[in-house]
Amino acid sequence: TQWVYSFGDGAAEGTRDMKNLLGGKGANLAEMSSIGLPVPPGFTITTEMCGWYYDHGGRYPDTLDEQISKALSRIENSVGARFGDAENPLLVSVRSGARVSMPGMMDTVLNLGLNDKTVEGLAKRSGDPRFAWDSYRRFIQMYGDVVLGVAHHLFEEALENLKLDKGVDLDTDLDANDWRDLVEIYKQEVKTHLGRPFPQDPQEQLWGAISAVFGSWKIDRAKVYRRLHNIPEDWGTAVNVQAMVFGNMGETSATGVAFTRNPSTGERMIYGEFLINAQGEDVVAGIRTPQYLTREARENGNSAKPSMEEAMPEVFAQLKGVFQTLETHYRDMQDIEFTVQNGKLWMLQTRSGKRTANAALKIAVDMVAEGLITEEEAVMRVDPAALDQLLHPTLDPSAQRDVIAIGLPASPGAASGTVAFTADEAEARAKEGEAVILVRVETSPEDIHGMHAARGILTSRGGMTSHAAVVARGMGRACVSGAGSLRIDVKAGEMTVGGRTIYRGDTITIDGGTGEVMAGHVPTLKAELTGDFASLMEWADRYRTMAVRTNADTPHDTETARNFGAEGIGLCRTEHMFFEGDRIIAVRQMILAEDEEGRRRALDKLLPYQRQDFSEIFRIMRGLPVTIRLLDPPLHEFLPREEKEFSEVAMAMHVNAEHLRRRALDLTEANPMLGHRGCRLGIAYPEIYEMQARAIFEAALAVGEEFGATITPEIMVPLVATESELAFLRERIEAVAETVFEEKGQRLTYLVGSMIELPRAALTANEIARKADFFSFGTNDLTQTTFGISRDDAGGFLPLYVEHGIITRDPFVSIDQKGVGELVRIGAERGRETTPDLKLGICGEHGGDPDSITFCQSAGLDYVSCSPFRVPIARLAAAQAAL
Ligand code: ADP
Ligand code: MG
Ligand code: MG
Repeated sequence: TQWVYSFGDGAAEGTRDMKNLLGGKGANLAEMSSIGLPVPPGFTITTEMCGWYYDHGGRYPDTLDEQISKALSRIENSVGARFGDAENPLLVSVRSGARVSMPGMMDTVLNLGLNDKTVEGLAKRSGDPRFAWDSYRRFIQMYGDVVLGVAHHLFEEALENLKLDKGVDLDTDLDANDWRDLVEIYKQEVKTHLGRPFPQDPQEQLWGAISAVFGSWKIDRAKVYRRLHNIPEDWGTAVNVQAMVFGNMGETSATGVAFTRNPSTGERMIYGEFLINAQGEDVVAGIRTPQYLTREARENGNSAKPSMEEAMPEVFAQLKGVFQTLETHYRDMQDIEFTVQNGKLWMLQTRSGKRTANAALKIAVDMVAEGLITEEEAVMRVDPAALDQLLHPTLDPSAQRDVIAIGLPASPGAASGTVAFTADEAEARAKEGEAVILVRVETSPEDIHGMHAARGILTSRGGMTSHAAVVARGMGRACVSGAGSLRIDVKAGEMTVGGRTIYRGDTITIDGGTGEVMAGHVPTLKAELTGDFASLMEWADRYRTMAVRTNADTPHDTETARNFGAEGIGLCRTEHMFFEGDRIIAVRQMILAEDEEGRRRALDKLLPYQRQDFSEIFRIMRGLPVTIRLLDPPLHEFLPREEKEFSEVAMAMHVNAEHLRRRALDLTEANPMLGHRGCRLGIAYPEIYEMQARAIFEAALAVGEEFGATITPEIMVPLVATESELAFLRERIEAVAETVFEEKGQRLTYLVGSMIELPRAALTANEIARKADFFSFGTNDLTQTTFGISRDDAGGFLPLYVEHGIITRDPFVSIDQKGVGELVRIGAERGRETTPDLKLGICGEHGGDPDSITFCQSAGLDYVSCSPFRVPIARLAAAQAAL
C-alpha cells in the first residue's frame, strides 16, 4: 500500500480530487505544487494510515518507515539540507489535515528537527543566531504543548517573566541570548513536568508528532465537533510533513493570511493581513498588530505601519499573481496562508474560503459574470440554509448595542419594539400601530394571535423546537428563545435581567439570528431581494423540476409567499380561521349544539366568513393552485380553558357555565393527537366539511368570475387511514359541489385529495389513490406516528438522543429518510400504481429543509410546500436537488 504521497518542485503524487485520502490540506498542497506555485516540498501520510493505526492498537505497518525515509530524502535533496544534520539541518512542520477542516484537531508543530546541536548549525548557516534560537524556543513550546502535553500557559508565563526581567514589551525586542535563555527555561519546564528531558533525537520527534496527529483524531474535542457536524468517525485524518520556510528571518521575511475576495461582503479585492519577521500563527494569535496587505486597506484602516504592497512591492505583486492563478484554477474564492523568506514567496495552504451568506451570493453571481463559473455552478455554490439570513431584517452593523441577555437564535431576523407581556396586550397595542415585542416565559397555542401581531418574540424558557421557536419560524417572526437570565413578572408588568428592570412599554431589540437581546432601539436594515438575490433565484427556477408552494392561511402570509416566489399554496389550514373575532362564538355554538340542526344553524353563520377567507386567498394567488385542508384539530381545542373565559362565553351564549364545562369535559381526550380529529371529525359531523366545501366552491366561482379565469381548488382531507374514509367524504364533497354548481349555474373543476400522514395510509396508498386526485405527505404527523413520538413532548428526550448519537438529527427538522422517508417512497409508488397522474407533494416543516427537499426529489414528488420565509430556500434547494 502507498501510505505516503510526495509533493514539491512543481510536481506531486496527489491531486485536489484526493481529499478523502490526503485530507483537504494535503490534496491542495499537492495541487498547488503541480500547477507550479511555490510550495515547500513535503509529503502527506494518508487518512487510510489513520484507520490502520486505530485498527492495530496504535502501531504502524513495517512499510511505513521505509516510505517515510524515502519521502524525507526527497525533501532533503530538494532543500539541500539533511534532517538531523548538525551542520546543515532540515527542519519540517508536521500538520494535521482531515477531509474537512476541523477545529479541535491537533495543532501544527513547526521547526521540528531542532535540538541542542542542530540549533547551532542553523545559527551558523543562516548567520542569524537570533532567528535560530527563536525557532528552537517556538519548537519546544509547540512540541511540548501539542505532543508532550505540557500546559501551554507554563511556556507563556515563562516568556512573560523573561520580558518583564528584560523590561521589554515585544517579542521582537528580545535578542539571541534572551531566546537561548528561554530555551533553557523551557527545557527545564518540560523536564519538571514530564520527568524526562525534551527529546533530542529528530526521528523520535518526527514519530512523536505523527502519532500525536493520529492520536488527536479521537480526543473528546474532536469527537464532539464531529458529532455536531455529522462527520463520520472513520474518515480519519492525514498528516502533512513539510520543509519549513521561515518568516522570522528578519525584515525581508514575513507571514500572512489572505482571502482572494472579501469574505464578508464578497467584493473582489485582496483581503488579509501579514506580519514582518514572524512565523506561523503569529498573525492570528495577536502577538503584534498585523499589517494590511494593500495600500488602500491601510489607508482605510488609518494604519501607520506600511502595507505589504508598500513594504514589499515585488513579493506583493507576485502574491497578486498567485491569487489570480488560484482563482482561475479553483474557480472559487480562496483562503490562503503564505510565508515570505528573505524576499521569496511560499504558499502554505489554500482552500475554499468560508463566507457570509451575502458574500456567497455576490461571489457566485459575480463569477458567472466574470465567466469563471456557469449558472448551474453558481446555483450549487450557495448554501440554501444560509439564505435565511438574507430574507430577514438585520441589525445595522454600525449601530451601538446594549446587550442585556443572550438566548437561543430561534428564528432569524432582527426586530425592535415595546415590551408586552401578554398576547392580548401585544395584539391590542399592535392594532394601534405600535411595534411590539411579545415577551413570555414560554408560549402556547393561546398566544398565537399575540405572536402574529408582534414584530418579535422573546421567551425565557424553551429550546430551538419549543412552541415559540417553531411558530415564529413559520410566521417569519424574529424569535429569541430560552433567554434564561430573564426574570419575567407578568403581573407586575416587568422583567429583570442583570440587575436592570425593563417595564412593559419599554423598547428592546432582539436578534433572532444571534440570540442577542438588547435594551433600547437598534436600527435594522431591510432585506434586499433584488439584484444578486434575484439573479440567483432566476437561475434556480430555471434548473429545478419540483414546484415550490407555501403553507399559508392568512392573506398576509400568502402575500409574503407570493413575493418570495411561491407557485401556489400547498397547505392552507382552516382552523385558525375559526378563532378570529366574533366567529369563535358561532364555532362554540356549533360545538355545543345538541343536534345536527343546531350545528347547521351555527355553521350557516360561519359560511360567509369562510367564503370571505377563501376568496381573499384565491384573489392573491390569482389562479395559482390552492390546496385547502378541511378542519383537522379536535373540537375541544375551540372551547375555553380558564374559569373566567367559561363564564364569559356562557354569558354571551345564554347557556349556563356548568353545561359548557360538562361539554368541554365530554370532549376531553386522553390522547388528542390520536383522537377525534381530522377526517374522523368530518365523518362524525359531515355538516362541518360540507360547510367548508360550500365556502370553497362559492369563493372559487366568484373570484373566477372577477378574473375571467377558472380557479381549480384542491380540497384536502386530513388524517385519512383508509380508502373508505376518503370515499365517504369525497361523496359528500361531490354532492355539495353539484348543489352549488346548480345554484350558481356554473361549474368548475376541482380536486379532492388526501393527506398521507399515517403509516397505514402510506402502506395502502394504492387503495386510497382510487379516491384521490392528489396526495400531500404531512410529514409532521407522519413522523409522529411512525416514530410514535409526540412532537410536543419530544423536547424531553430527543436532545439526549442526539447527544448520545442514537439519532443524528431531529426527525422533525430533517426527514428521517430510512423510516419516514421509506413510507413516503412507498406511498408515492403505490399511489401512482393506481393513479399514474396522481399529483404528489409534501407539506409540513420538512418542505423547507434542504436535505429533505433533496429527498423529495429522489422520491419523485411534484412539489414541496413550506412556510413563506422558506420559499426562496426551497427554490434553491430544489434546483440543487435537480442538478
Ligand atoms: P491550521 O490547520 O490550524 O491552519 P497549519 O498546519 O495550516 O494549521 O499551520 C499552522 C501555521 O503554521 C500556519 O500559519 C501555517 O502557515 C504555518 N506553517 C505550517 N507549515 C509551515 C512550514 N512548513 N513553514 C512555515 N510555516 C508553516
Ligand atoms: Mg492553516
Ligand atoms: Mg397533520
